Amino acid sequence: MTYVITEPCIDVKDRACVDVCPVDCIHEEGDADRMLYIDPNECIDCGACEPSCPVTAIFAEDDVPDSAKEFTALNAQWYQDKAAVRARVNAIKPA
Ligand code: SF4
Ligand code: SF4
Repeated sequence: MTYVITEPCIDVKDRACVDVCPVDCIHEEGDADRMLYIDPNECIDCGACEPSCPVTAIFAEDDVPDSAKEFTALNAQWYQDKAAVRARVNAIKPA
């Protein structure tokens, strides 16, 4: 399992989750990214990030709302193909 960051993070990015993650598995690359992404291969499912998020963007994988299911794959994909995920985020929520 993993935790997943979803659409409400877009353009918020306050990084509260980063401060509480014990394994440093939540990343972005500055202005290139409009949201943050959890590395599913590093996340230890501790749940610390979920309540830290001021916009309720973080869910356990099993609890991701149906309307946000795509973000489970997008979090993982960002660690393989950042450009594709950035383009998809821009399509989901035009700047
Ligand atoms: S569940 Fe824990 S390990 Fe996973 S991203 Fe959140 S704080 Fe980090
Ligand atoms: S705490 Fe929520 S809004 Fe802030 S960076 Fe993390 S996921 Fe995004």
